[in-house]
Amino acid sequence: MDSNKAATQLLTESQITALENAFKAGDVEDRGVVDAGQVQFIVQQVLGDVLTVSEVRTLVQKGEAVGAATGVINLQEFKDLLIDLLHTTTTRWGALQTSLDGYVGFDTVLEQQRKKFLKKGFEFNLMVVGESGLGKSTLVNTLFKSKVSRTSCTNEPPQKIPKTVEINTVTHVIEEKNVRLRLSITDTPGFGDQVNNENCWLPIYDQINKQFDKYLTEERSVVRRKQIPDSRIHCCLYFIAPTGHGLKALDISCMKKLHDVVNIIPVIAKADTMTIEERDAFKDRIREDIAEAEIKVYPSSLLPEDEDVLQANAPIRKHLPLAVVGSDRALTINNKSILGRQTKWGFVEVENPNHCEFSFLRDMLLRTHMQDLKDTTHEEHYENYRRQKLSEEGNP
Ligand code: GDP
Ligand code: MG
Repeated sequence: MDSNKAATQLLTESQITALENAFKAGDVEDRGVVDAGQVQFIVQQVLGDVLTVSEVRTLVQKGEAVGAATGVINLQEFKDLLIDLLHTTTTRWGALQTSLDGYVGFDTVLEQQRKKFLKKGFEFNLMVVGESGLGKSTLVNTLFKSKVSRTSCTNEPPQKIPKTVEINTVTHVIEEKNVRLRLSITDTPGFGDQVNNENCWLPIYDQINKQFDKYLTEERSVVRRKQIPDSRIHCCLYFIAPTGHGLKALDISCMKKLHDVVNIIPVIAKADTMTIEERDAFKDRIREDIAEAEIKVYPSSLLPEDEDVLQANAPIRKHLPLAVVGSDRALTINNKSILGRQTKWGFVEVENPNHCEFSFLRDMLLRTHMQDLKDTTHEEHYENYRRQKLSEEGNP
């Protein structure tokens, strides 16, 4: 029997499209074929989650039989396989059994996704903004306990202070338990260094938009890469000077320019220079200033949040702005190497939560909120950029 004809008799057009789409999704490498092992997965995508155990068994057996020699199946073979199934079993599309009489195993979909993600690796792009000398470079080094970015206090000739804001990005690939993270950190030395700092946010703003534009161009090109390299800034750490006097005009104007294009996390730099009371009072002050100036900081409270998210974000909201201390020197105490700052009167441990909130920040960035920061960037900031750009071009 002509199988295409058979297919149109047995399946509706949308079902055939669904099948073709599922096949395409399974065809990770664009070879026109999928691994025989994927049969079950694809059928499940088309049929929903409802297949009997025996049907799945039949399918997998047939799939294996077809793919026995090559281990792969093409779309036509796939259609034949399905038609066969529909012929030989009593099940019909639309009249499917709705409960499973046993374990089928489509929960392995998670495992398949995990593997795929692991293969791709993760990308995370961080940016540090704030006046010179607040310890941005040091904190970045602390964050990754490696010399990721160079500090500005090296023995270089005196003209080292740049005239305008520079944008330097350093990329590191970090690996932990087979997970690869491509971490880029953009430093912005020179911010606020001029006599007139009115426009010093501009190069930063431009840089963020440039990355959006790069992504949009890739997304729109006719022949596009399977995985678009993501250089969009997912998070901006904004350094506030530990003055005890609230936000400066420069901080307010800069954050207000940036909050529409990037997730801002405000941090109090060099928190070791303040006493506990000063720190708490300063935090309150900053929080008031932020609220008064209507600066949006991450996590944004504009979107509705469900119980889980609310719970995850509550401690962050309580602690913002995070009081951090940075150091790239380690001291060996009791045979343990501890990052910290030695002063005449004591030793500030950077990773000790009793001393400062550095570990809180690190956990948030790298452990608990990385994906959310990336999602917000994609769904909110990038989406805004995209909408604006496309409508400027006259698209409806
Ligand atoms: P950047 O210009 O913002 O990149 O600042 P740097 O990282 O170059 O740091 C400027 C100076 O501040 C250096 O002497 C650092 O050792 C010092 N520093 C960095 N972080 C801290 C901190 O958390 N506390 C204190 N007290 N000093 C710091
Ligand atoms: Mg620096």
